[in-house]
Amino acid sequence: MKYDVIIVGAGPGGIFSALELTRKNKELNILVLEAGNPLSKRHCPIDGVNIRSCISCPSCDIMKGFGGAGAFSDGKYNITNEFGGNLHEYVGKQEALDLMNYVDDINMEYGGASARKFSTANSELKKRCLQHELHLLDAQVRHLGTDLNYIILENLYKELEDTIDWKFHSSVTKIEKVSDHDYKVYVGETVYECDTCIISTGRSGSKWMQSICDNLNIETRSNRVDIGVRVELPAAVFEDITDEVYESKIIYRTEKFQDKVRTFCMNPRGIVVNENTNGVITVNGHSYEDKGCFSENTNFALLVSNKFTEPFKDSNEYGESIARLSNMLSGGVLVQRFGDLIRGQRSTQSRIDDGFVTPTLNATPGDLSLVIPKRQLDDIIEMLYALDKIAPGTASDDTLLYGVEVKFYNLQVDVDNQLETKHKGLYVIGDCSGVTHSLSHASASGVYVARKVAADLQK
Ligand SMILES: Cc1cc2nc3c(=O)[nH]c(=O)nc-3n(C[C@H](O)[C@H](O)[C@H](O)COP(=O)(O)OP(=O)(O)OC[C@H]3O[C@@H](n4cnc5c(N)ncnc54)[C@H](O)[C@@H]3O)c2cc1C
Repeated sequence: MKYDVIIVGAGPGGIFSALELTRKNKELNILVLEAGNPLSKRHCPIDGVNIRSCISCPSCDIMKGFGGAGAFSDGKYNITNEFGGNLHEYVGKQEALDLMNYVDDINMEYGGASARKFSTANSELKKRCLQHELHLLDAQVRHLGTDLNYIILENLYKELEDTIDWKFHSSVTKIEKVSDHDYKVYVGETVYECDTCIISTGRSGSKWMQSICDNLNIETRSNRVDIGVRVELPAAVFEDITDEVYESKIIYRTEKFQDKVRTFCMNPRGIVVNENTNGVITVNGHSYEDKGCFSENTNFALLVSNKFTEPFKDSNEYGESIARLSNMLSGGVLVQRFGDLIRGQRSTQSRIDDGFVTPTLNATPGDLSLVIPKRQLDDIIEMLYALDKIAPGTASDDTLLYGVEVKFYNLQVDVDNQLETKHKGLYVIGDCSGVTHSLSHASASGVYVARKVAADLQK
């Protein structure tokens, strides 16, 4: 059978494409091919007792499977054009916001109605930031929390289970163009055919995406990677900020290097977690909506943006090399007290144990200055002192810094304003396109393309 549409990847981009396609036309034959597990089978073996850190499973259940990288994420849907992707550059600013609001409505409809929406616009915090050379970006954020996010995904799957063909453990190996609107999609030896193919393989499919683009002669670019640490401190230190706006994206330009450092992925009363991208272990964080799962700490990332110019082309490799260095020294993620970093001494288990902040991730105590290049480390230290002015206690000796956090940017795939490649009927959406880097933007890109595809197939 030739499918009308094959979607590769069941992350937010793929799921919202599938949902919107069925909403527009129930008759469409749609197949979703997903490399990972169905939602109910996704399980990270780290239990904090027998398995305390990442054991590099062949397929990472945190990153892969129904729900994609977003399944166990904090479920922060930021409705803004200021960060999270450049969808607005392709579809227009208002359309991008409308799409993100539409996604938000669906999330509410499928189980997220009790989640609160925060806004940073006109907040008192904005003024306080400006007084200290810090810049708070405007955004609305719906914080679903890992628990509600999971329920929404369960409900979405129930809705789509019978109307769409789902194939899990189906890692697409190759996509072949027969002609425009005629594609062969390979899972090993098995071939599926379709009129339209929507690729939504996220960050975990980044390297794979490069090979697909090479084979199909689609141009790509890669020139950006963000490197930094995850900061963990007592929740009380950031309480005024997180209670007011929940997620604050604050940007600071350092005096020394004039680099931009930003806060990213703030998790009030959350936990720090490992992340495994293609075997490289980095750090991330999440939090729960359920008060019963609250920790004593808040965590967030501090990231320094690095943009490279010719002849260097592989910014992700730069980020990976730094992450690998921390993996080499610590077997995974490294943790250091801010006080130890400033004094030029490594953290040891006893120094961490003596501190007043109890780590929520079992990382190896060590020395971040052996891993993170001086420029980025100086930037991070400067930013911590700047943040200390709006949240006193940030630059405390006991503040924990986990390294390294790397925000890989997928290669920019050459797509037009419809997110269609030069091959008619072949679309690239979500994080693997390089257009989006977040749940709301990835989901919105899925809705956008689905509407276009449904209209084309109708014709
Ligand atoms: C721990 C964590 C917390 C996060 N928290 C947030 C947050 O709070 N807010 C936010 O906005 N963003 C967050 N993010 C980022 C967010 O999850 C991503 O931006 C989003 O999931 C991207 O959606 P996507 O559909 O493009 O890709 P993904 O969610 O990565 O999904 C891609 C899917 O494609 C599958 N795939 C890959 N290759 C193949 C192949 N060859 N064949 C078949 N299938 C394949 C993968 O298995 C995966 O399931 C977080 C990420 C992580 C890891």
